[in-house]
Amino acid sequence: MSYIVALTGGIGSGKSTVSNEFSRLGVPVVDADIIARQVVEPGRDALQQIAYHFGHSILLADGTLNRKKLREHIFSHSADKQWLNNLLHPLIQQETQRQFADLTAPYLLWVVPLLIENNLCSRANRVLVVDVSRETQLSRIMTRDGSNLPLAEQILSAQTSRAERLSHADDVLNNDREPEALIPQIALLHQKYLTLANQFNK
Ligand code: ATP
Repeated sequence: MSYIVALTGGIGSGKSTVSNEFSRLGVPVVDADIIARQVVEPGRDALQQIAYHFGHSILLADGTLNRKKLREHIFSHSADKQWLNNLLHPLIQQETQRQFADLTAPYLLWVVPLLIENNLCSRANRVLVVDVSRETQLSRIMTRDGSNLPLAEQILSAQTSRAERLSHADDVLNNDREPEALIPQIALLHQKYLTLANQFNK
């Protein structure tokens, strides 16, 4: 199995921007958000269980999950949130392991926005944090999502703090400057991870 580098960072910090660059260098990317969507696709057993538990009104007209409605419901119903986590967590883990096992590259990039929140650091060989200042993060979220400052601040305060995230980092990528400034930093990390993976796979 490949050496696992977990990539995390707060909302709008630049995880997708960074993972696209690793991908361009030929590094396989396993994306936790994509896996979380795959396990509840139509036809999957989990979607049937969700529809049974919450009622069919939790589905959209095309049979897919109404994620917004589900998110809003579990926000104020903690027992249902726990039920959903108990259902999805093992499925997500299983699918993640399956994707890891399929890969033969020296190392893979595992993009996990909630790495710290979900206590998953020990599942990676290395933790890379994309870090931006609070000001940069707020301004990028507002630009991208059209949200106002109070909403952007509220979203940030619901996440793990920057200091907490950084305390788990083996490597830190700063993304306060223009996107091009990431490229040399990522090229250096790529070399470092190839070396570490080589030692790991010996
Ligand atoms: P999310 O957690 O919401 O999925 P993310 O961490 O994947 O976000 P990106 O989608 O990569 O972050 O970046 C967030 C926004 O900021 C995007 O609109 C992106 O184009 C922009 N962005 C990323 N890096 C930079 C940069 N260095 N300079 C300017 N804009 C940037």
